[in-house]
Amino acid sequence: MRDAGKIVGEILSLLRERIVPGVTTLELDSYAESEALKRKARPAFKGYGGFPFSVCASPNDRVVHGFPNDQPLIEGDILSIDFGVFVGGFYGDAALTYPVGAVSEEATSLLEVTSRSLELAVAAAVPGGRLGDISHAVQSYVEAKGFSVVREFVGHGIGRQLHEDPQIPNFGLPGRGPKLKPGMVLAIEPMINAGAPGVYVLPDGWTAVTGDHKLSAHFEHTVAITESGPEILTLIP
Ligand code: MG
Repeated sequence: MRDAGKIVGEILSLLRERIVPGVTTLELDSYAESEALKRKARPAFKGYGGFPFSVCASPNDRVVHGFPNDQPLIEGDILSIDFGVFVGGFYGDAALTYPVGAVSEEATSLLEVTSRSLELAVAAAVPGGRLGDISHAVQSYVEAKGFSVVREFVGHGIGRQLHEDPQIPNFGLPGRGPKLKPGMVLAIEPMINAGAPGVYVLPDGWTAVTGDHKLSAHFEHTVAITESGPEILTLIP
């Protein structure tokens, strides 16, 4: 799983450099796919449940699972890119949200808070803890900052399958849920809205959008729980 995670982190790093005004998310999609194949890895999302692309590209009010398209990004957008690979029998999965050029103060704050909420969630992924500690770490921090937690989509276990038990909500109570043990690998992925938490799915059957069309951000890491604490497998260089 370290091999899969390393490839995901490397490719997200390359994608991040390419999130600039004028680029299209379809260009990012084909770039990610070719970089994965170069590393003898298979893009994990393409064909998953019928998803037609290698990356999920979700700008602005898109929450997750957006389809790449040929519309150029413009200065002031924010873009969530979610990417995973399958290699050596295992999956890796991660996401980041990045500003396109200069963005609003609200967007900057949303990106900082969502990224920080993932760090806090990872820090709670320790042996002897409970799954609810991870959920609570995200919710308590994000809501104190005035943002809201998406309820309809959650993180997940990951390994030989892209999505395994347990589900990992980004809201919940500390001390509840399954015990965290060394050897578990979790894809922790806060999805945070600037406005209300509600989302809906477009007629394409995939793209989740905020109900109030305010901004949404998404960060994700694949994290192994080890005897000595959490190890982020998808570190982005
Ligand atoms: Mg995931």
